[in-house]
Amino acid sequence: MATRIDAEELDRRLTRFDFAAPIPIEDVLDDCVALLRKFNIHNTHPRYFGLFNPPSIFPAALAEILVAVFNPQLAVWSQAPVAVEIEQRLVGFLGARLGFDPSLIAGSFTSGGTEANLTGVLLALTRAFPTFANDGLRALSRQPLIYASEESHRALLKIAHQCGLGRRAVRLISVDDALKLNVGSLERLVSADRARGAQPFLVVATAGTTSAGVIDPLEELAALCQAQQLRLHVDAAWGGAAALSDSLRSHLGGIEQADSITVDAHKWLSVPMGAGIFICEDDVGLEQTFAVSATYMPAQAGGPADPYAHSVQWSRRFTGLKLFVSLAVLGREGYAAMLERQAELGEILRARAEQDGWEVVNQTPFPVVCLADPRFDAVSEEVRARAYGDLASHVIDSGQAWVSMASLNGRPALRACITSFQTTEADLDILLAGLARAREHLMRS
Ligand SMILES: *Cc1c(COP(=O)(O)O)cnc(C)c1O
Repeated sequence: MATRIDAEELDRRLTRFDFAAPIPIEDVLDDCVALLRKFNIHNTHPRYFGLFNPPSIFPAALAEILVAVFNPQLAVWSQAPVAVEIEQRLVGFLGARLGFDPSLIAGSFTSGGTEANLTGVLLALTRAFPTFANDGLRALSRQPLIYASEESHRALLKIAHQCGLGRRAVRLISVDDALKLNVGSLERLVSADRARGAQPFLVVATAGTTSAGVIDPLEELAALCQAQQLRLHVDAAWGGAAALSDSLRSHLGGIEQADSITVDAHKWLSVPMGAGIFICEDDVGLEQTFAVSATYMPAQAGGPADPYAHSVQWSRRFTGLKLFVSLAVLGREGYAAMLERQAELGEILRARAEQDGWEVVNQTPFPVVCLADPRFDAVSEEVRARAYGDLASHVIDSGQAWVSMASLNGRPALRACITSFQTTEADLDILLAGLARAREHLMRS
């Protein structure tokens, strides 16, 4: 695995490409492969235990070539009916697995989780504030507010900025000892915000936090949102894949009560980036949010809804084919078996790490394991954060595995996430041996 990248050498090698004279394609491609091998963290390696950037399932990679060659334009149904139909069926399939009413499901593929979450916020604003679409936020007398946990994905801040809500419109709620959004704190803050004249409108729950794989209490949040007339969006960018497995999806109970859901196919479903999915039960709301008419666009030909009038994008790439081909080749149960095996490896890693004297500091059914060494607890948080950083660096520099550091509710830890469907138990043992060596090294120094 690549360890440290030499940025100066990279600069030198790229500067050779001045585009002055043509180069034969074999040479260019050889160079690209050499550069990608050398100057890249190999997140497709079975011992890359990092953020959720998995290897691509081979059928999905082949589908990408088909998409590039046919290059269909999915803005309108009439231009690419097969592509639009395939994507709509996938949204419907996944939405139904998540518990939405099949007759109501609507949504689209997105570039990733960020765009899917943006879609959820825009739909919520449009539905909650009838004047928003035409008059914008400036016409509102009260400030709209969004609520999410401290452990939520920070893309939400960029989204609030992009929508014109401003980053301060995102209220981050404390988490409990299990790192789940604290529903009592949320309820109190919503009341206090209302009392001072603001207008809470949306709760974003996370089903599978980035650091620790934690699932917010979806049932309780759904009940609170209903009682308080707030909308609920569930960011299941990583964890939503669990919908494919009969055993794993039980952990997502309550998600079917959400107004909308984000799932990233390029995370646990292991198709190439970028492939997010936005799912809701509100086609009319999507139309109110995104419809425009333009004389140069082909008229709707009596087919189903045109994607450009129901989503953020205009020109639209055929993102769904890689998931369609993968699902068809593996079958839903084959996919589920892959996810379940990764979850099982997470359990094995947890058990073996505990045998090695590590404390597992996160609870999740998903394969991300956060580890602390109780012996470090005595030292200050700053020293501890440095120690975990050193441990991760030691493992990375060995070239044997890639892990990262996490901060869970302020508590530093090592984070190892099983991101590859090719990871085996032997890979876990190599990781654990590397962690043990790193710890010995740190204890000696
Ligand atoms: C990855 C992730 C995101 C961001 O999605 P992108 O695909 O990177 O845009 C948002 N929320 C959660 C929970 C994630 O895991």
